[in-house]
Amino acid sequence: MGNQDCIFCKIAAGDIPCSKVFENDSVIAFLDISPLSEGHTLVIPKAHFEQFDHCPSELLADIAVCTGKIASAVVLGLQCEGYNVLCNNGAAAGQEVNHVHFHVIPRDSGDAVFTQWPAKQYSDGQAEMVLNKILKNL
Ligand code: 5GP
Ligand code: ZN
Repeated sequence: MGNQDCIFCKIAAGDIPCSKVFENDSVIAFLDISPLSEGHTLVIPKAHFEQFDHCPSELLADIAVCTGKIASAVVLGLQCEGYNVLCNNGAAAGQEVNHVHFHVIPRDSGDAVFTQWPAKQYSDGQAEMVLNKILKNL
């Protein structure tokens, strides 16, 4: 299931070292090498899937449960006020490593980790049009 060119497959296989936070049969978590904040952790499936929606449901369930456990440990261990769980999918969304991963990013008030959330407004009728585009594909 590994991808020879994938850095996260190499980490999952133990071929590249990492600061391991957690491991079970299908999931491994380790500290991000370039953290946005102290304790920034990556949770990945051991099997190579590029994006969130490519993963089988049982695996997503396992990752979600593990991510919750890990987030609790990160919050208690780092004594942070909150955290973000983030999954970038596709280069346009900022994905640099094409092996699906969840960032657990410890947060404190005023830490300036994310300084922008450029929220917009729907114009009249636009939300219904957008909704229909999604619903047609579910
Ligand atoms: P992305 O931008 O794909 O969502 O995030 C990839 C993350 O992987 C980045 O935060 C980056 O610092 C981290 N990363 C890339 N290569 C390595 C590595 O070899 N080891 C670890 N621990 N993290 C890595
Ligand atoms: Zn991989």
